[in-house]
Amino acid sequence: MGSISGDTQPHHVVLFPFMSKGHTIPLLHLARLLLQRRLTVTIFTTPANRPFISESLNDTTAFILDLPFSHNVTDLPAGIESTDKLPSMSMFPSFANATKLMQPDFERALQNLPRVNFMVSDGFLWWTLESASKFNIPRFVFYGMCYYSCCVSRAVAIDRLLFGLQSNDELITVPPFPWIKVTRNDFELPISEGQLKGRKFEFTKETVIAASLNSYGIIFNSFYELEPLFDDYWNRECTPKAWSVGPLCLAEPPKGRTEPHNKPKWVQWLDKKLDQGSSVLYVAFGSQAEISPAQLKEIATGLEESKVNFLWVIRKCESEISDGFEERVKDRGIVVREWVDQREILMHESVQGFISHCGWNSVLESICAGVPILAWPMMADQPLNARMVVEEIKVGLRVETCDGSVRGFVKWEGLEKMVKELMEGKKGKEVRKKSKELAEMAKKAIEEGGSSKCTLDLLINETCGKKT
Ligand code: UDP
Repeated sequence: MGSISGDTQPHHVVLFPFMSKGHTIPLLHLARLLLQRRLTVTIFTTPANRPFISESLNDTTAFILDLPFSHNVTDLPAGIESTDKLPSMSMFPSFANATKLMQPDFERALQNLPRVNFMVSDGFLWWTLESASKFNIPRFVFYGMCYYSCCVSRAVAIDRLLFGLQSNDELITVPPFPWIKVTRNDFELPISEGQLKGRKFEFTKETVIAASLNSYGIIFNSFYELEPLFDDYWNRECTPKAWSVGPLCLAEPPKGRTEPHNKPKWVQWLDKKLDQGSSVLYVAFGSQAEISPAQLKEIATGLEESKVNFLWVIRKCESEISDGFEERVKDRGIVVREWVDQREILMHESVQGFISHCGWNSVLESICAGVPILAWPMMADQPLNARMVVEEIKVGLRVETCDGSVRGFVKWEGLEKMVKELMEGKKGKEVRKKSKELAEMAKKAIEEGGSSKCTLDLLINETCGKKT
């Protein structure tokens, strides 16, 4: 790690990712892009999250500072420093609220840093705006969402969603985009009145939005050509000014290993499938999704009955599938219970389809690899991302739920049918073609003269007075 005391890198950026993998990873990619432009980068985190960041950036000069995060908050087990360690996502508001305990240490640290030209901090760390203002640092907010989901969320009146609908599945039109129809089920309303009742949270949807509105800008992990209409809408109708600098996952290639013995066993397995001329379906639901044992069993049966080759990554806490499943499918399926390099898997030539929860990073990584998606959203912005994937940019199909709702239970028969459609059907062929076209556009966006590269250069120029 490099020192930040020298004068050779006078322009200095502070990054403060939220403590979850999906929010941290894209900002680590952004760190690389800033370092490539010879800016000094300091990343704030907590002791428990530091090893992941250090390991990811061990070949760079990024400077990492950790702040103690010892909360003693009702409803939150002690020692938890990352949302993927939360026993339940219902504890998320308590967790986000507790991050504010870091504010005094954060400000003491800022005082001792060389001049900071700008700060990029996560939307859930709303209080960092106050700290940035005290030190006259322009703050960019980062949510890791796409324009489509942000624009639709802003455009739909929350009161209408909460009180104006007969059922969770009643369709309503989104006024500025009349072709888009959404339901209450498309929205995660985790910080509802009910959940907040009786608790004193500074962290609320209102505080987060107010802090965003008063920030210098918002950074989108997207690229103009992917969603021009929504990028234009945001910059015409919403504040703060948005900057599209993605896909950030293209900032560095996955750490590919050429030596066969250095490759993880699942990559060796993919190599074998490629040698046999077989295609593989990748199945993964990100770092947060909670999948019930009953749903896991249906997934297993659906994959078994579909007869396709598959690589299924499951979280350790979900390790029980169904008796004898792995033995029965061992010739054409592999189940992985470890942290994988997802980009390495998606980029593998054998992978031709992805069952995804549609976390925005996963969607972008799939697009960049030219792999079509079978969309299975579960929470947060995922239902809207899934709509975007299937209805707007048409790089995916949707999994069939029992009750037809966007987040319902999926029976194995519905899964089997859609897996076959994605991997072998006509619709699968269409979305695969579209994915490959978008993969090319994504690459161009970050190349010399590309839209995202120019936007990041402009941002640096504006905040640092620096020509990159
Ligand atoms: N990821 C990974 N290996 C894993 C699980 C996840 O590399 O075993 C990465 C994935 O590539 C993505 C991020 O973790 O960059 C997950 O972000 P996403 O927005 O897709 O979903 P979330 O975990 O936030 O729900």
